[in-house]
Amino acid sequence: MNVLLIGAPGSGKGTQGQRLSAILGMSHIATGDLLRQQVSDKTPLGLEVAGYLERGELVPDQVIIDLVLPLVAEAAASQGYLLDGFPRSVDQAEQVRAIAAAQGAGADAAIYLDAPREALTARLLERARIEGRSDDTEEVIANRLQIFDSETSPLVEYYRSRGLLHIVDATLPPEEVTNQILRMLDSPE
Ligand code: ADP
Repeated sequence: MNVLLIGAPGSGKGTQGQRLSAILGMSHIATGDLLRQQVSDKTPLGLEVAGYLERGELVPDQVIIDLVLPLVAEAAASQGYLLDGFPRSVDQAEQVRAIAAAQGAGADAAIYLDAPREALTARLLERARIEGRSDDTEEVIANRLQIFDSETSPLVEYYRSRGLLHIVDATLPPEEVTNQILRMLDSPE
C-alpha cells in the first residue's frame, strides 16, 4: 500500500511515518530528512538546497521530484511507501501524478494530520529547545506555517476530490493517532 502523510510542520508526520513503517513494513520516505542529510554531507544538491531549508521555503519542484521519485518507485515495487513531506503543493502532486501512475506507484490513501495553529507552534518551539534544528526558530517556524497554509493545505481538497482523503485529529496522543490511521487504512472506503 502507498500512503501520503500530509500535515503542517509539527503535526507529527515524522513520528507517525516511523511508527507506521515499523508496524506495516512499508518504507518511510521523509523528504525533509533526505534533504537535511544532503546538506550535512555537503553534496552538490545539499549546497543547492541549504538556503531554502534555512529560510523555511520550499526547494524547487524539479530538485525534490528528482530526489524522491526513484525512491517512491522502488518502495512501491516492494512493500509500498509512507511518504512524509511530498507532495507539498498541488503543483508537485500534478507533476508526478501521471509518472507515478504509469509506474504503478500512485498513492492509495492520503492521511491529513489536522491540528490547530497554537498546538503546532508550541510543539515546534519545544522541539527547537530539545533538538536545535536550525529551521525551528520562531521566525522560520512562522514562515513554514505560512507556506503550509498557502501551498500545502490545498492538497486536502485535492485528495478529498480524488476520494483518497482521511483526516485524523493530530492533537491526540501519538499512539492514538497511529491506531486511528491503522483503522482507516484497514477499512474499505
Ligand atoms: P516540516 O514539515 O516540519 O517543515 P520537513 O522536515 O518535512 O519539516 O521539511 C523541512 C524543509 O525541507 C522544508 O521547510 C523545505 O525547505 C524542504 N522540503 C521538504 N519537502 C519538500 C518538498 N516536497 N518540496 C519542497 N521543499 C521541501
